[in-house]
Amino acid sequence: MTSPPHPTEDLSVFHRLESEVRLYCRKFPVLFERAKGAELYTGDGRRFIDFFCGAGTLNYGHNPEPVKRRITEYLAADGLMHGLDMHTVAKRDFLSALDEVVLRPCGLDHKVQFCGPTGTDAVEAALKIARRATGRSGVIAFTGGYHGMSKGSLEVTGSRRARRAGQVGGADVTFVPYEDGPLGPFDSLGLIERLLVDRSSGVSLPAAVILEPVQMEGGVYPASFGWLRELRAMTERHGILLIMDEIQTGCGRTGTFFGFEPSGVVPDLVTVSKSISGYGFPLSLALIRRDLDVWEPGEHTGTFRGNQLAFVAATAALGLWRQDGFHAARAAAAQQLAGFRATAQAVDPDIVVRGRGMALGVDLGRAGGPGRAERVQKYAFEHGLVIELCGRDDEVVKVLPPLTIDAEVLERGLGILHDALLAG
Ligand code: PMP
Repeated sequence: MTSPPHPTEDLSVFHRLESEVRLYCRKFPVLFERAKGAELYTGDGRRFIDFFCGAGTLNYGHNPEPVKRRITEYLAADGLMHGLDMHTVAKRDFLSALDEVVLRPCGLDHKVQFCGPTGTDAVEAALKIARRATGRSGVIAFTGGYHGMSKGSLEVTGSRRARRAGQVGGADVTFVPYEDGPLGPFDSLGLIERLLVDRSSGVSLPAAVILEPVQMEGGVYPASFGWLRELRAMTERHGILLIMDEIQTGCGRTGTFFGFEPSGVVPDLVTVSKSISGYGFPLSLALIRRDLDVWEPGEHTGTFRGNQLAFVAATAALGLWRQDGFHAARAAAAQQLAGFRATAQAVDPDIVVRGRGMALGVDLGRAGGPGRAERVQKYAFEHGLVIELCGRDDEVVKVLPPLTIDAEVLERGLGILHDALLAG
């Protein structure tokens, strides 16, 4: 099945009016209208399997029924839609569900800060509170890490392209290679320790270390759990806060609710967004260790910090975590996805596949590079599969299907990807 641009689709208004900053629509230049589960549909009826899921925002797929039902009921009952940070039933129910399903099982005695609507707002809040609580300004971040596009988040983001656009300098941020990356494994912890104990290292004691438990935009590099534990021990020893950015890895993407969970580490701050609302609504949270919650009332505020419909949807989505069937489906899909490692390597032994849970990176860095990755993406789209690239130079194909995708649809999508690798 090929999907050439359809003559009935008039895309001229986008070209005429939408800023040049638009990105994904250039890679997937059709007019999407509907979506269900793991599939997207155009107005003229073409169908695409979605292995991108709104960059990790649709872990439960498009329009999941149990969530849709709740928000439809809420809308029909004239539920409150905007509440600043006032007490509302929707927020109460969400906080209670979050506590029961996530915070307590993960051993997080943390307060919840509702940030602005998007992921970078949570990162800004976490950095700000870390600096405020410690009275220090420095932060250690990892090369290849991605934390968002507003200024504070960009300062801890490695991507040269993103930093250049934001014109950020290197103020107060020390970048250290991650445990693994395109240049190979690195003794990051040894370097950090050396910088901290050498009084002439030029690096003063930082407020925090910020990291993703799996670097997603950087090319799908999972940190080992032992490494995370050692990092936690070191930060504790030196009185440095640990900020875990779970914006893309969280909400089940890597197999557990949070990516750090199997390590047993308890971070001081956790950022959450993307799939937490379960339906694509904007919602972002900073989880703050109770004693670090040193904010004065209103000290970090904004108009959109509590999208009520997002709370309703998020509560319904957390409800899925109480169902055995949901966990069985997730486990089965992850196992099926893991089988793709062998498939990809059979196509080309130079292809490296990394990942965890329902996140897989098919690295073409040594198997044709960014040019091949671009051809793979294009072929996949032309054959009905939406899939995105990541990595330093977009050399890694990032596979992010919905967590509970049907076995048959997953098989079909992986089949297209396999053919794309063969063709590319
Ligand atoms: N942190 C991580 C790990 C992310 O993947 C992203 C988004 N890709 C962000 C922060 C920023 O989130 P947003 O784009 O919603 O601002």
